[in-house]
Amino acid sequence: MLRFAPSPTGDMHIGNLRVAIFNYIVSKQRKEDLVIRIEDTDKDRNIEGKDKEILDILNLFGIDYSVVMYQSENFRFHRAIALQLLHEKKAFNCFCSSDWLDKKRQEAKDSKTAYRYDDACASLPDELVIDNENPFTVRIKKPLEPIIVKDHIKGEIKFEPNDIDSFIIMRQDKTPMYNFACSVDDMLSDISLVIRGEDHVSNTPKQILIREALGYGKNIEYAHLPIILNDDGKKMSKRDDASSVKWLLEEGYLPSAIANYLILIGNKPPKEIFTMQEAIEWFSLDNISKSPARFDLNMLKHINKEHLKMLDAKELSRYVGFADAQIGEVAKIYLEEASTTKELRAKIALIFAQKNIPDEFKEYAQAIVEIIKKAPYFEEYDDFKNYIMQESGFKGKNLFKPLRILLMGSEHGPDIAAVYKHIKNYLGEIVK
Ligand code: GLU
Repeated sequence: MLRFAPSPTGDMHIGNLRVAIFNYIVSKQRKEDLVIRIEDTDKDRNIEGKDKEILDILNLFGIDYSVVMYQSENFRFHRAIALQLLHEKKAFNCFCSSDWLDKKRQEAKDSKTAYRYDDACASLPDELVIDNENPFTVRIKKPLEPIIVKDHIKGEIKFEPNDIDSFIIMRQDKTPMYNFACSVDDMLSDISLVIRGEDHVSNTPKQILIREALGYGKNIEYAHLPIILNDDGKKMSKRDDASSVKWLLEEGYLPSAIANYLILIGNKPPKEIFTMQEAIEWFSLDNISKSPARFDLNMLKHINKEHLKMLDAKELSRYVGFADAQIGEVAKIYLEEASTTKELRAKIALIFAQKNIPDEFKEYAQAIVEIIKKAPYFEEYDDFKNYIMQESGFKGKNLFKPLRILLMGSEHGPDIAAVYKHIKNYLGEIVK
């Protein structure tokens, strides 16, 4: 079983989508189920509706899964397991107040040493613990031996006992901390491989420690994906619009192209343009680079254009707001100069919009409109154009400039004869 474990705390980041895609691909390759675990244990950070939004995005990208779980539904297990650890003296109640802990943290900062909990409550006598009315957290006892994380991408990473202190697993309000909930849930769901972002690497030894304390024997594999950098070489953050999957979709990037791009970066694919289903054939975590991937919007544009080319005319017409293959054909022609559905929609909208004719051509345009309104149907642009030429007596730019603007809404653009072929049935709507 694999899992994708998003927190419903904000817009889905492309880094998270990349994690979801990789989990999906590997689950298909290994013929194992994929579970979606909504990590909603941090009540203050949860945002209403984000879980639904995440699931909608997964559906849109064709990432199917066997079940959706909410981490908060497992609270009773987290509590029971914490009690078991307390009972076995692998965990202890900690009565240190947050003010006290803040003070200790500040002292460590002032003396430029890394803060570690000093185990003040690790071996309190039972009589001080039982019936103690003060609020307490539960901490797991720190490891005595180094913990080695074997990672598919990063190789072996060794964590010394001193890298990990006796950390909190249950808050005072009896809700689990992230590492505890995550580790226990991975165990309860029988996860075999965890693929997630590298910001979680330092959590991994803690999660292993928890399962070791519980005597869980199964080895869970790990793959931590390098972060994605922006143009300035900094981690893509909320401030980078392109980090939001929602933004990319609104800008007119196709899910298939975004997926293609996210699989491509920092990888060694056998070709540049592919679908997620094709990637299942050859994808390997072993080919993922250890170093961060750099996000390049121009590259994504290029890939998007190639995916738009692969759509048939009817599908493409739907993306630009029509249901007619002929408009899809027009959009295909405009792919010469546009690379997103949003750009295409704007081009097509110009064709149907009220036209802005420069003053010097206004009179010519008016005359041409009247002629077109009465003109018979012409299959070919040349015949249509010759007819207008004859009826109006205009030629050169006095004919072509207004005619192009009337038909296409712009002085520049693709070959008018090619576009005419697909819009000739709409002339009445176009030339109003
Ligand atoms: N909920 C975590 C996140 O969104 C992921 C945790 C994990 O994959 O283990 O970053």
